[in-house]
Amino acid sequence: MLGLNLTGRKVVFVGGGAVASRRLPRLLDDGALVTVVAPEVGDDVHELIRAGRVEWTARAVREDDLDGAWFVHCATADRRTDALVSAWCENRRIFCVNTSDGAHGSARLTAETRAGDIVVGVVSDAGVDPRRTARLRDAIGAQLADGTLPVRRRRRTATGRVDLVGGGPGPIDLMTVRGRRLLAEADVIVADRLGPADALPELDDEVEIIDVGKRPGHHPVPQHEINELLIAHARRGRRVVRLKGGDPFVYGRGGEELAACQAAGIPTEVVPGITSAIAVPQAAGIPVTHRGVSAGLHLVNGQADVSPTTLAALADDAVTTVVLMGVAALPKLAAATRAAGVPADRPVAIVERGHTPQQRTTRTTLGRMAQDAADAGVRNPAVIVVGEVARAGLLMAEPERAGDVRR
Ligand code: SAH
Repeated sequence: MLGLNLTGRKVVFVGGGAVASRRLPRLLDDGALVTVVAPEVGDDVHELIRAGRVEWTARAVREDDLDGAWFVHCATADRRTDALVSAWCENRRIFCVNTSDGAHGSARLTAETRAGDIVVGVVSDAGVDPRRTARLRDAIGAQLADGTLPVRRRRRTATGRVDLVGGGPGPIDLMTVRGRRLLAEADVIVADRLGPADALPELDDEVEIIDVGKRPGHHPVPQHEINELLIAHARRGRRVVRLKGGDPFVYGRGGEELAACQAAGIPTEVVPGITSAIAVPQAAGIPVTHRGVSAGLHLVNGQADVSPTTLAALADDAVTTVVLMGVAALPKLAAATRAAGVPADRPVAIVERGHTPQQRTTRTTLGRMAQDAADAGVRNPAVIVVGEVARAGLLMAEPERAGDVRR
């Protein structure tokens, strides 16, 4: 099979029905200059003509319609016409797709799938069986898309890139398909903690994994050095994935890394992830909003000072407050709410290591949370949920776990 570059070249499509409407977009995506020859065309094809994306010769086909064409596709639903066009093409040495006789013409279109910069086309050597090739194409497409095929480049390109990928709350099947494909394409993975991703089948042995892990209070690699690391690897022509827990733009410093890469002229992409702010409460059966219970969500970093806005959210029983990085801040948070007169009986749930086998939920209240967390030995990583949605038994969906604490 050959791959043809149709960019800027004349292609004649004979017929304007269903086959044309399916296949014209593909020829156009390949950059072909397409003329449709057909007395009548269907709505989709009409739309392309109206939009100026294809030319239309509105009559039955003639041999001179093929003048200047590099490639012809016939699909008139009339075998005799298709055979005639096919014969003209043969004479003129123009490659032609003609599937109406159940065999291939001098050319055939593959069933095509794309992922990133990879294009796979499926054809068969036997008779035409489009459903079979389409199914196979879809199966290959699914594996390409989720990174289970070896898509990593073997030959370096001049410029690398940095993709910021959200890894979600932990389990690999809670990561996006796009993120997994980018991981499979990566030469270098820069991670805070790789977690389940280090066991990914798509990672080659040669992939370099750099752990810049941050734990609260420890900053093994300072942020500016992480930025420099990303840029340096990309400048060496490598594809870098900056893998982050949850979502890169939720307390992930993803914005800073993106800005640094862009300032350095490095191509970048950001792939969102499922943030722990929402998914970890969910793992404990807590919806962050719930009709008639909580209409809004206030998300805050526990390490920051307790702002008036946070106090207002904590005091509002129609708002859920979610605190990340908040375990060490529980006494400070409790003192601030007490001083501000926020009702001490507001429900609190502290969910540790959400979506892992070690998940544990401690149910308490604003007034008691600091003591209860200390008694239960609550540790990071944990998500603190304050509000009516944190009340035990709001939903029955999530069974309690062995270690769960209810005060
Ligand atoms: N970008 C991440 C958040 C980074 S801040 C996201 O969108 O999820 C790190 C904080 O996230 C932790 O201190 C903790 O509050 C929370 N966190 C992340 N994963 C968690 C998990 N599996 N269980 C509980 N908390 C988690």
